[in-house]
Amino acid sequence: MRVKSAKFIGSLPFDGFAVGGEFGGDKKMMLKILKWIFNELPENKPRHLLGIGFLEDIPKIIAQGVDTFDCTVPTNYARRGIAFTSKGKIDVFRGRFLKDNNSLDKKCSCQVCQNYTRSYISHLYKSQEITALRLLTEHNLYFFNSYVEKIRRDIKRGKI
Ligand SMILES: [Zn+2]
Repeated sequence: MRVKSAKFIGSLPFDGFAVGGEFGGDKKMMLKILKWIFNELPENKPRHLLGIGFLEDIPKIIAQGVDTFDCTVPTNYARRGIAFTSKGKIDVFRGRFLKDNNSLDKKCSCQVCQNYTRSYISHLYKSQEITALRLLTEHNLYFFNSYVEKIRRDIKRGKI
């Protein structure tokens, strides 16, 4: 049904195509289904994948032919106190970060990492100050954008 649908939709004069829905329950199957679908869509038109954006998935879906995607991961995780860093995720709302005067990520050049400490953001959260969520959201969005920028550079250099 996916192949049949992609053949039909791909034959219509749209400027681009969005793909979403059920992908078979696991990520391996998702990549397989994307391959089936993208084999049927015109290569010269952009392909958007709906709702997929865990960091570990991004290089794989791009390699499969996805041009753009959207996902709630950076903002959803921020609302739960999770910051993505070059060394993995950290839960800034945990008490131990109240005494941590490092930035969220030493390698990040976002304005949050340049101006605020983990301690301050953790304090904001303990004080039920919504600014904690805003700062984590801003950092996570910057982190994801930087991650994808690096992939774009690698594509231009022929590494991917
Ligand atoms: Zn940052």
